[in-house]
Order: sequence, then C-alpha cells, then structure tokens
Amino acid sequence: MFNHSSKTALVTGASRGIGKTISMMLAANGIKVIGVATSEESLKSIQNIDNIIPFCCDISNEKSVEQLYNFSKEHFDSIDILVNNAGIHMDNILLRMKTDEWQKVLDVNLNGPFYLTRVLLKDMIKSKSGRIINISSISGTDGNKGQSNYSASKGGLLAFTKSLAKEVGRRNITVNCIAPGVIETDMIAHLTDTVKKNYLDRIPLKKFGKPEDIGKMILFLSSDEASYITGQTFYIDGGISLN
Ligand code: NAP
Repeated sequence: MFNHSSKTALVTGASRGIGKTISMMLAANGIKVIGVATSEESLKSIQNIDNIIPFCCDISNEKSVEQLYNFSKEHFDSIDILVNNAGIHMDNILLRMKTDEWQKVLDVNLNGPFYLTRVLLKDMIKSKSGRIINISSISGTDGNKGQSNYSASKGGLLAFTKSLAKEVGRRNITVNCIAPGVIETDMIAHLTDTVKKNYLDRIPLKKFGKPEDIGKMILFLSSDEASYITGQTFYIDGGISLN
C-alpha cells in the first residue's frame, strides 16, 4: 500500500486489540516488529507470527523499559518506528477516584510512552530518522465523564507529541498522534448496550471503528509518503468528535 524505508518497529500493547492488529499489519508489510505486552501468557496471541518478536515488559516501570531496550539492541541497531499504543483505563467519578486509580492510569498511559520514547530516541537521532506514533483518544481532547484520569493521560500525550515534534524535527524524526473514537476491542467490551447505543447515536458514520482503521493510518504515518507530516493529531472516530 505504502513504501517503507523503515525496517524495524516496536509496538506496545501488542497482545490484543488495536496493538495486535497494528503489529500484524506492519509485519505483513515486511517490517520486523517487537511486540510488547505485560505477560508471557498474553503474548501467546502473537507467538509464531512471521516478523513479530514478542517481549514481556511493563512500560510503566522504568527498569522494565531498560530491559526492553537491551532486548531490542540484541536484535536491531535501532528501532525505526515506535508505536506507543498500550493503554489502560480505571474509570471513576473524581470524588470517588482513588489515588491509585489516578496514578496507575497516568503511569501506563503517559509515563510509559515517556520512558520508552526517551530511551529509543538516542538511536533514532544517531540514524537521523525515526517515526514515533502515539495512540491518544478523543477523551484526551473532548474529556469524558468518569475518565478524568484517562482523559488527562491522553491529553498529555497530545501535548507531548507536539512538543517532541518541535524538538526532533530537524533530526528527521516525525512524531504524530492518533485519536481513536470507539473501536471494537476488549477496552469497550464492558460498555452496556445503552451506553453503546448512545455512542452510536452520536457517531455520524453510525458504526464503531475496527482496529484495522487505526492500523491503516499507522502504515501511512510510518511510510515514506508521510515524511513531511509531524506534530499532528489524526481523529479516527467516525466523526464523533465533530459533535
Ligand atoms: P486493549 O484491547 O485493552 O489492549 C491493551 C493492550 O495494552 C494490551 O496488549 C495490554 O497487554 C497492554 N498493556 C496494558 N498495560 C500495559 C503495561 N503496563 N505495559 C505494557 N503493555 C500494557 O486496548 P485497545 O482497545 O486495543 O486500545 C489500544 C490503545 O488505544 C490504548 O492506548 C487506548 O487507550 C486507545 N484507545 C482505544 C479506544 C477503543 O475504543 N478501543 C478508543 C480510544 C483510544 P496485556 O494483554 O498483557 O494486558
């Protein structure tokens, strides 16, 4: 579909949902992917797939991220494409939100991308090329009741993207963000039928997105054709953010 000079990628949250699909689509395009998730058990889902190397890492733990970097160096000189996709939510209204619920979501969704991007950036700067793509959410721009922790983390990722794009543009490294709307994965499995119907009423395209919708944008943003795009946020949401 697109041309890729990039040969290697690291995708977090690769065991399920959007991250698994992104990893498989990059791998199918000949890119060697390190796919990251939290346990050996969850990584079984991407075992034995051509071009995907699974690795267990808790991205919210700086030491674990160092181990991931060392593992990546055993396989590749540098990672060309970093997809900061892993994310969690622990929803609660603010008055009831426990410090732990706030902290954990910020640790995984915002601190994780910080640790990982910082450690991989050195080699991207050396090789004078790189693609960093952060998966945010429409909750990061529009907010969402009961998701102040999640929205803060995803809004932080949007601002992080823009700042970093300004810092590393002259090194030929692009940094972009994707803000998905409601995508059919485990993350929305807990929603009641009423909540799902409410969402569908508000989505102009009248359907939920599929992980492949995000994967196609990743293929584009990591391709040679997207070399003049940086610091941008792309909404893949069936139009819900227009409301
Ligand atoms: P998902 O199905 O719940 O999968 C989450 C992935 O993140 C899993 O692979 C999980 O690994 C991994 N993960 C969680 N905590 C981690 C940690 N500490 N270290 C490393 N990996 C970790 O999620 P999804 O729906 O595909 O969402 C992917 C991204 O898109 C997230 O950032 C999410 O916020 C964003 N997003 C999703 C939607 C949606 O509607 N689905 C909408 C907007 C934004 P394990 O399997 O080991 O737990």
